[in-house]
Amino acid sequence: MNTKDKCITLLEQLEKQTVLSKEEYLFLIRHKEDCMEELSRMASDVRDRVYGKKIYIRGLIEFSNYCKNDCLYCGIRKSNHKAERYRLTKEQILDCADQGHALGFRTFVLQGGEDPWFTDERMADIVRELKKRYPDCAVTLSLGERSEESYRILKEAGADRYLLRHETADPDHYRKLHPQTMDWKHRVNCLYSLKRLGYQVGAGFMTGSPFQTEEDLAEELLFLKELSPQMCGIGPFIPHQDTPFRENPAGSVETTLFMLGLIRLTLPDVLLPATTALGTLDPQGREKGISFGANVLMPNLSPSDVKKKYLLYDNKICTGDEAARCIECLKARIKKTGCEIVTDRGDHKGGYHNV
Ligand code: SAH
Repeated sequence: MNTKDKCITLLEQLEKQTVLSKEEYLFLIRHKEDCMEELSRMASDVRDRVYGKKIYIRGLIEFSNYCKNDCLYCGIRKSNHKAERYRLTKEQILDCADQGHALGFRTFVLQGGEDPWFTDERMADIVRELKKRYPDCAVTLSLGERSEESYRILKEAGADRYLLRHETADPDHYRKLHPQTMDWKHRVNCLYSLKRLGYQVGAGFMTGSPFQTEEDLAEELLFLKELSPQMCGIGPFIPHQDTPFRENPAGSVETTLFMLGLIRLTLPDVLLPATTALGTLDPQGREKGISFGANVLMPNLSPSDVKKKYLLYDNKICTGDEAARCIECLKARIKKTGCEIVTDRGDHKGGYHNV
């Protein structure tokens, strides 16, 4: 069998939910140029069968860029003294949500650095208020690692979902991307705690992060299959000028698309965003992500004056746009792909095993 035929056979097995080995995933990753088109078609088909042509939107509110962590890749790491720090008030957060709700958003994602100012009490108060004002909306949190007790308090306050990228499935790789005080095991345990507590959970990683190998990418797929998260956020690594990885090359658009497609086949009902980082590396990146099975977009609802301060990487797109303009632009872009942005909570369709 030639390489291309072997790739297509493996993709077909994956589509039928056959579990692939690390070697088989690795084979696909090493020969991705032989089956990009087939993967794109298959991943879109699987997405369409589970979710139709609906693209869900999440209103991202980047409420604080204070962070006690020092992740080597991240522009808001605590050692970056050039970052201009800000923290939104409860009222500002609620204003963002008001605007978002009027624009049709039915999920709000509160994301921030690990900012100790936002204690369980303050955070729970914000979540409760959001759920009270918008009982028809889902609240997603992305606040990094906290204690299980803290996750429980926030769940009881009404939070529905939690995004916590594991960043890499390999503990050795994790140590090269983070200060030694941070621990891979702890982060992964957080994901399992969140699942146990009944959150819809989002894991994820960067493609092309420093030191990442093709083997690491194959490991990602095994890790995801095992964890089975409801959401998975992946995007290319993009260097930030004020971090130790400033000279490292950005990840590739192709690899990101290929991984999106493989994730869609591996976890057919996963909610899969076409990320802003992908749109930053390629002007058509988000549309391309949709063509590889993505079905979520996360436009920014943060106030205009802070958008330029939540910079995880250089050249981030849409930092000058008003939310209303952003959503118009996305609607037009997505229409061209044959998909359609919908106003819907867009919950995970759990239990779909009949692909
Ligand atoms: N403090 C929260 C939110 C982190 S920022 C948490 O710990 O989960 C959200 C994601 O942005 C990170 O998980 C990381 O995968 C991604 N990110 C950070 N720096 C990046 C960079 N330079 N390029 C691309 N993605 C980056």
